Amino acid sequence: MAIERIVNTSGQDDPVEEELEQTLRPRDFKSYVGQERLKKNLKLAISAAKKRGEPIDHVLLYGPPGLGKTTMATVIANEMGAQIRVTSGPAIERAGDLASLLTNLQDGDILFIDEIHRLHRVVEEVLYSAMEDFKLDIMLGKGPSARSLRLDLPKFTIIGATTRTGALAAPLRDRFGMIHRLEFYDPEEIQKIILRTAGILSVRINAESAKLLAGRARLTPRIANRLLKRVRDYADVNGDGIIDSHIATQALNLLEIDALGLDPADRGLLEAIMVHHNGGPVGVETLAALTAEERTTIEDFYEPYLMQIGLLERTPRGRKVTVRAWEHLGKKPTKAQPSLL
Ligand code: ADP
Repeated sequence: MAIERIVNTSGQDDPVEEELEQTLRPRDFKSYVGQERLKKNLKLAISAAKKRGEPIDHVLLYGPPGLGKTTMATVIANEMGAQIRVTSGPAIERAGDLASLLTNLQDGDILFIDEIHRLHRVVEEVLYSAMEDFKLDIMLGKGPSARSLRLDLPKFTIIGATTRTGALAAPLRDRFGMIHRLEFYDPEEIQKIILRTAGILSVRINAESAKLLAGRARLTPRIANRLLKRVRDYADVNGDGIIDSHIATQALNLLEIDALGLDPADRGLLEAIMVHHNGGPVGVETLAALTAEERTTIEDFYEPYLMQIGLLERTPRGRKVTVRAWEHLGKKPTKAQPSLL
């Protein structure tokens, strides 16, 4: 039986999933669970901006997918009482596309640019002066008769989201007044999110099962919500729709999600390092070839969680599995590893 992965990156492009995410998105700071430090900073910035009657400074949010960057952008807009337009780096193909987006904004509007590290270079350069002094420089014509024109733009705020700040050109990064990293959530916070989602979707689940799912959701809200949905399907088909520990355990087994929240692909990645490279270190390109995954998927998606829970290490010479990873998979290195002794 083919099992759709819970841990995939592609789900975000699925219109059904996107609609569900919209329904589940917290709309204000109160319903946005966790990320306390980020919320504290943003609340302060928002109150100050409101007091001055100005838009807030440009904000850059970074961290692995599914942790709530887009959600936070909409929360900021709601808390500011501002309109938000949503786009993404790859969607803005030409400088002209950006010009039309920006000139259609009004004072105080927020432009959310997801995957901002994937902006085209030429677009990025136009964005610099737009962000810095709300001016847009456009070239009219070509060759010797070309003229440049400077347009005034409304006072807007850019909220950028990226899985990695390292991939962002320094001049762009410098134009953000606030740069914040989203952290993985505590299992208790994930449990809260599961119970909140269950409430919205009228899923019957007890606290104990919510805790069980929370422990397997990669400390990530998007995965927690997906997991809940899949387990609900299982409960509908194999029971009376109520998620108790028995049903939850059976569903998790079917999905092959283990006690640490790893699915077969995660385990495959760790095993590839163990079997082919005796635990590493191994370069990410080699790892991509071994697992048939994109390098960016490995870097943005698998690694942050595997490192967070101490199964994988990044060293200057490549990726290495930890003692905990060997133990978790019940394997042993074939030859002694000095660092494991
Ligand atoms: P990102 O933009 O970082 O990839 P999203 O903002 O799209 O992540 O979040 C994915 C889903 O997870 C959203 O649909 C939302 O329902 C849920 N979610 C994210 N953060 C939170 C949170 N702090 N509290 C409750 N639900 C959240």
